[in-house]
Amino acid sequence: MVSPASTLRRARAVSACAAIALLAVPATAHAAPRADPDARAGKATTRDVGPDADPVPSPVTAAAAPTTDRLAGADRYATAVAASRAAFPSANPAGLTTVYLASGADYADALAAGPTAVARGGGLLLTQPDRLTASTATELRRLAPDRVVVVGGAGAVSAKAMRDVSALGLPVSRISGADRYTTSAAVAREGFPSGARTAWVATGQGYADALSAGPAASAAGGPVVLVDGRSRTLPAATSQLLKDLGVTTVRIAGGTGVVSSGIESGLRSLVGSSAVTRSAGADRYTTTIAVNSRAFPSLSRGDAYVAAGNGFADALAVGVLAGRSKRPLYLSYAYCANGSVRTELSRTVISRVRLVGGPGAIRGYVGTLGACRSLTAADSLWVVANKQRRLSPKSYAPSGLVQPDVATINGHKLRRDAAAALKTMIDAARAEGAGRIALLSGYRSYSYQVQVYNAEVALRGVAAADKVVARPGYSEHQTGLGMDLSPVGDPSCNDYRCIGNTPQGRWLAANAPRFGFVLRYESGRTPTTGYSPEPWHFRYLGAATSRDYKAGGFHTIEDYFGLPAAPRY
Ligand SMILES: [Zn+2]
Repeated sequence: MVSPASTLRRARAVSACAAIALLAVPATAHAAPRADPDARAGKATTRDVGPDADPVPSPVTAAAAPTTDRLAGADRYATAVAASRAAFPSANPAGLTTVYLASGADYADALAAGPTAVARGGGLLLTQPDRLTASTATELRRLAPDRVVVVGGAGAVSAKAMRDVSALGLPVSRISGADRYTTSAAVAREGFPSGARTAWVATGQGYADALSAGPAASAAGGPVVLVDGRSRTLPAATSQLLKDLGVTTVRIAGGTGVVSSGIESGLRSLVGSSAVTRSAGADRYTTTIAVNSRAFPSLSRGDAYVAAGNGFADALAVGVLAGRSKRPLYLSYAYCANGSVRTELSRTVISRVRLVGGPGAIRGYVGTLGACRSLTAADSLWVVANKQRRLSPKSYAPSGLVQPDVATINGHKLRRDAAAALKTMIDAARAEGAGRIALLSGYRSYSYQVQVYNAEVALRGVAAADKVVARPGYSEHQTGLGMDLSPVGDPSCNDYRCIGNTPQGRWLAANAPRFGFVLRYESGRTPTTGYSPEPWHFRYLGAATSRDYKAGGFHTIEDYFGLPAAPRY
């Protein structure tokens, strides 16, 4: 849309002040890829593949797309309560005699307790170590079991927490051993007094490969037995436990880097070579798939549970629910369904994806099987440019830049997808009565940012310049996806900087996500973004992502993509 003459006159007026003001328009940029938070957070036991492993999304066919819902509470304890309520919808459920209670601060005890709870028809809840979590107490009252069994030593669940359970009028006891391995053995004996034919063996040294073993073990009617996977031989205590339980089939979760080949040899000697299988993939996500493939070889159509792989709490919380219904639990990236997991969940046997945890833990986009895009490739729709992430190459220039069909003040261009969405958004703003909006600044080249930045440094010095202008190579404008918008024809605001107080600015802040844009530098987010609030700067992310961003209550793309704050270079 070509702007009318009045708009152009207005635009020139804005341009006059913007010519100087432009120098104060920050941009961002983006840097050498750091370790992916997904990879860092989980004590990876097998090699992790970063989010850039899936740079090219492929479509999920509509016919195969499952529905999605979410099991979540305000925190991990409340999420465990939500899973418990899903598993036991009615209060004081018939047949529920025991609720197991484990620490939510570590994974080992709850992981072992899950299959035992399922075998005993019981529940599993999590608590803070130092006292009984309030939401957990409420759920214990609702379930009103005959007994509560605390799993783990006093360091995991304190005596105070046990007294808190007693205060509810519920008998409480403790199962524990000298360490997580002996505790897991004791829990297995508790859950399977008549023995079990199949056991899953997982390491107690990292949760990543072990989480999906819980529902897998439940599906086989057996326990998860934790071992120190680094051990060169099968520990005698583990061997004795498996003998005592009468285990004839052993399934190992994870590769030899997680559960050693020596342990595997010992298991083969114990139950026979053909009775031992190992399920492992290249990373925690594909390992989960391998575990589920082994555990659920002929899955009927139904639910799949999906938790983020960069934490353990939510996956533990849902272990009993998944185990009771003999449905698989998968791990995914927190913000997108990464390749192999997405393929797995696209199978027609998956009718519903049940996300576990709130949007801060796992995004709604995962539930729609939204594909991953690179956060580091400069030409990716999701590239994150900030003070910790420089564009690579630093002189990157997008291809296919176009002049958006909107009123522009400086003739700036945008990436084609962003330009089309901007026109749709600006037309909608006017149609919905918000008034006219012009593009003030779009793509800026590396060399142009050099000029902008150097001019600002000459004027203010480096420290002050860094607060308002991105260094060359770190600017979001350089991607062709970041842009500054200005109100047009508003007598109360003749400068883009006051857009936040105009109908246009208010409309944009509320509606931009409908069209694929997010307000990039919100008020109060400087500690994360490194920039002062900029109610004029919007970032195109694509509609699916921007809508999920808004639905999840996010305020920075760093938080949305699970990236570290970037307040400084
Ligand atoms: Zn900007």
